[in-house]
Amino acid sequence: MHARCPRCGLLFEREHGYFAGAMVVSYAIATAVYGGLVVLLWTLLPLEWALLAAALLFLVTVPAIWRYSRVIWMHIDRALDPDDAV
Ligand SMILES: [Zn+2]
Repeated sequence: MHARCPRCGLLFEREHGYFAGAMVVSYAIATAVYGGLVVLLWTLLPLEWALLAAALLFLVTVPAIWRYSRVIWMHIDRALDPDDAV
C-alpha cells in the first residue's frame, strides 16, 4: 500500500495505529459475507458442509475485504474528523 495517494498526495495513514478502526469495519464485512455464504450454501448442503464450504469460499474474499475495509474506514474517519493536512 502506498503511503500517499499517487494522484493527489493524500496521506493514508494519518497516525500510528490509524488502521485499527479498519479492523472493526473488516469484522462487520467479514461477518456479513461469511454469514451470507453459509445461508446460501445451507440451501444446497447439510450445515456442516455449508460451514466448511463457506469458510473456503470466504478465503477468496479476504484480500478484497482487507482493502475495502481500509477504504471505508478512511471515509468514515475523514467524514468525522476532516483534516486538510495532506
Ligand atoms: Zn487521491
